[in-house]
Amino acid sequence: LSDVTSHINLARDLKIEASTDPLTGLLNRRSFFETANRMMARASSNGEALSLIMIDVDHFKNVNDGYGHQIGDFVLKDVSRLISKQIREGDVVARYGGEEFIVLLPLVAEDAATAAANRMCAAVRQHDFKVDDRLIHLTISIGVAVIPKVTSSEAIDHLIYLADTALYEAKRKGRNRICCHTVE
Ligand code: GH3
Ligand code: MG
Ligand code: MG
Repeated sequence: LSDVTSHINLARDLKIEASTDPLTGLLNRRSFFETANRMMARASSNGEALSLIMIDVDHFKNVNDGYGHQIGDFVLKDVSRLISKQIREGDVVARYGGEEFIVLLPLVAEDAATAAANRMCAAVRQHDFKVDDRLIHLTISIGVAVIPKVTSSEAIDHLIYLADTALYEAKRKGRNRICCHTVE
């Protein structure tokens, strides 16, 4: 029996390992897409709202260049925690790439999505990141995309494209801010 149990535990551990990002413990990009596609299908069959938040740390290269890659990793973990604190149960947060994070918010339209994004921006802006015996400060930029009523024609790729465009706009306007695109 204990042999079977250890096989079950191993299978479970492997599954968790395959779906999470080792640095932050968040979902990885691949399992984000699996979950997102399921949520998209459900939203479209019920005509529900769906919002997506795309986050990128501002001038993160400076952290690595100034303090080293290890400190950079430590800071990214802190950022992931600050972001995760601002979301509700049922929202899906993942590490999308190097210093990029993504959050899918079911049943959430523009007001609540931009409020969550603004909370994330403020939480990072106000945080003292402890680096050795010093404190450093960072900001993030956020692109928000909102579909108030999902229909079958829309795909997660389109939502990501819109959030990406909004994020680019936030960067262009000076960073440390959010921009939002809502589908009419
Ligand atoms: P911007 O405000 O335009 O986003 O500037 P940026 O410096 O954040 O953007 P850029 O894309 O030039 O640099 C991102 C940096 O993030 C470069 C890369 O080395 C670093 N990075 C990506 N993944 C990791 C990681 O896992 N750990 C660490 N320490 N650094 C990472
Ligand atoms: Mg980036
Ligand atoms: Mg960046």
